[in-house]
Amino acid sequence: MTTAEIKAMATEYIINTYGDRNLAFVKGEGPYLWDADGKKYLDFLGGLAVNGLGHCHPKVVAAIREQAGKLLHTSNLYYIQPQAELAKLLVDNSDMDLCFFCNSGAEANEAAIKLARKYTKDSGRTDAYEIITMENSFHGRTMATITATAQTKYHVGFEPMLEGFKYVPFDELEATEAAISAKTCAILVEPIQSEGGVNIPSDGYLQGLRELCDKHELVLIFDEVQTAMGRLGTFFGYQSYGVVPDVITMAKALGSGVPIGAMLAKREIAESFVPGTHAATFGGNPLVTAAASTTIQTILEENLAVNAVKMGNYLAGGLMELKGKYPIKEVRGKGLLRGLVMEVDAKPIAAKCIENGLVTICTNDYVLRFLPPLNINAGHVEEAVDIVEKSMAEVL
Ligand SMILES: *Cc1c(COP(=O)(O)O)cnc(C)c1O
Repeated sequence: MTTAEIKAMATEYIINTYGDRNLAFVKGEGPYLWDADGKKYLDFLGGLAVNGLGHCHPKVVAAIREQAGKLLHTSNLYYIQPQAELAKLLVDNSDMDLCFFCNSGAEANEAAIKLARKYTKDSGRTDAYEIITMENSFHGRTMATITATAQTKYHVGFEPMLEGFKYVPFDELEATEAAISAKTCAILVEPIQSEGGVNIPSDGYLQGLRELCDKHELVLIFDEVQTAMGRLGTFFGYQSYGVVPDVITMAKALGSGVPIGAMLAKREIAESFVPGTHAATFGGNPLVTAAASTTIQTILEENLAVNAVKMGNYLAGGLMELKGKYPIKEVRGKGLLRGLVMEVDAKPIAAKCIENGLVTICTNDYVLRFLPPLNINAGHVEEAVDIVEKSMAEVL
């Protein structure tokens, strides 16, 4: 099918929650994608931070093929070997003790929200259920997670929101402390806000949240759906900041494209989930956990977190060089989570980049966001920067 044919069929049969699009990719290899009309693109969006190993990494493809031929699904009524192996890998590479598996980032956050409430009640603070979240956050699209997401644009039409969430500005400790009351049970935060505009924390902010949680007996939850899996230069984002949360949620790059989410927690907190308190039919099934274990092993074996730092710095440097010529405010981010902040509307630049063969996205009107695979090389970075420059020259 051509792009136009795919578009016509999708438009006729799919509820239009994603808007009008003009691209359909049909093939991927490493950092490259091909659309239905045969045009090649360099993918610096990586399926929104999902394709951390690029497209169709041979080790992941082999693991999926092998597991698919053996066993796809049973149920969590039974033990699942690849799930146990994945849990061990996650625990061995973090400061957490126990894992719960689900199918997406939103579900991982749902699990964390439920666990924080349950643990707090179990520890005797029976009236505490409120969770503090940050303005411009993004935590998912279920009712609880849109409520946790402190951006009104995601709430409109779906009111009433869930009870028990309080919003404070990101990166402001004083406002956070002021919002804490006898009802508070947890703080939920992304180490770097990606959807919200690539907002990075000031020195001491995450540590300050840790101290507030210790002082007020709150559960500190890091939403690492986008920052885990090596993207910031350490396996988990929190390791880049030296601040250990009590609960971590992850998804996106965990399965290299198969749908999997996970919540990791410290033992004392995790043990508030007991038989019957939470579940997911597909959660951690053999197929997705086999893909995830191979993804993690590949990131570790190939030292991709280190490469993310190198390539992230190279990308930031290349983009900064354009600053003299074009209305660029700054380059923000860490590792391979980068935002090029423009003084002008970045949407036409993002559109032009795609036209010129570079997949990227505009966030918060002024930010061009880059989430490339972690295994890119200097040549890919140069190719991307050249296309950004060419696109700016054409648009501005
Ligand atoms: C994408 C994202 C989510 C939601 O994940 P889904 O898999 O789409 O439910 C939650 N938190 C953060 C930080 C994200 O980037």
